Amino acid sequence: MKNSLILMGLLWIGLATIGCTDNAKNDRARAKACSANMRVLMGAIEMYNMDYSDHPIRVLEEKMYQRGGLLLEKKLLNAPLRMPTEKCRYRSTGDLSSQKDPGIIFCNFHGSVDDLQKLFEGK
Ligand SMILES: [Zn+2]
Repeated sequence: MKNSLILMGLLWIGLATIGCTDNAKNDRARAKACSANMRVLMGAIEMYNMDYSDHPIRVLEEKMYQRGGLLLEKKLLNAPLRMPTEKCRYRSTGDLSSQKDPGIIFCNFHGSVDDLQKLFEGK
């Protein structure tokens, strides 16, 4: 009886551990997908700003990367961006069209590409 209780306990701890590492892996995969989204967005906006330098995108708006948005209309994105988590929303700070001091895109939930890079490198 006592042995089976210990066995049950060990089994439970084992399952809990597997659950945790799976969660961590999923979080990491979602963070990577988020980072990839931000790189895609930056690339698309850079292209847009080269083509429309007389009225460039200075501030990222959510609708730009959603269905029917500016970046899709101009074929700079093939499809609306899929959010890796429900909490992901992309915004920008600074002036995205500036050559000297370009603004950056960040996720409300994950932070910027640089923030995520540091996280992946374990800094
Ligand atoms: Zn995110």
